[in-house]
Amino acid sequence: MRQIIIAIDGYAATGKSTTARGVAEALNYLHIDSGAMYRAVAWYLWQRGVRTVQPDLLPTQLEDLALHLERQGREMAIFVNGRLLQEELRRPEISRFASEVSAVPWVRERLIAEQRKLGCRGGIVMDGRDIGTVVFPNAELKVFMQAELSVRVERRYQELLARGIVVDKKTILHELKERDYRDETRATSPLRKAPDMYVLDTTHLTISGQIAQVVKWAKELIYASTPS
Ligand code: C5P
Repeated sequence: MRQIIIAIDGYAATGKSTTARGVAEALNYLHIDSGAMYRAVAWYLWQRGVRTVQPDLLPTQLEDLALHLERQGREMAIFVNGRLLQEELRRPEISRFASEVSAVPWVRERLIAEQRKLGCRGGIVMDGRDIGTVVFPNAELKVFMQAELSVRVERRYQELLARGIVVDKKTILHELKERDYRDETRATSPLRKAPDMYVLDTTHLTISGQIAQVVKWAKELIYASTPS
């Protein structure tokens, strides 16, 4: 059976990674969370005390960064200079900083090259902001995820709470709006809903409903293109 590329893009806190993980599991594909790669770069800089992005300084600041991705089951584990990064990537300050760092073309070029290498053979579900538009413009299935802002705020609040991080909802609202704005308006590979994307509005969907919908679209494409 043909191994396709599934690109999932969309706004922050619409459930992209959760959906991508579930779809990868259902199809026995590899899940690649491209946002985690931007977060890893942001985390590295943050650890080194960098608090403002100065594009000219980045090549030097990132000189000693060794970003390594290793397949673990259906997921990619991320290592920065030998250290496995997990929960630390999800902290609110890293979310914010990742969106600033990701606007720098020099950073994007490097990570996009890496993402293409990881996914070029198909059989992957990659989620992010520019996967269907820039990283894999020829992906067989492109999904754009959106949801009402109030629902996204509530989901992010619950997600952080489950991790033991308490942030008030007003701050989350502000942070999501700011990140979406930055992702949509940056000059290099902005977040964009392309005409060939299937739109998945998750406002009234459960996680299993979201996953089922994408799996259905994927199977329709796989079977349509597999000679019997
Ligand atoms: O998806 P996630 O929230 O983990 O992504 C963190 C940040 O990384 C986003 O706000 C966005 O600025 C950036 N990003 C990106 N392109 C991607 C994935 C993430 O610019 N493909």
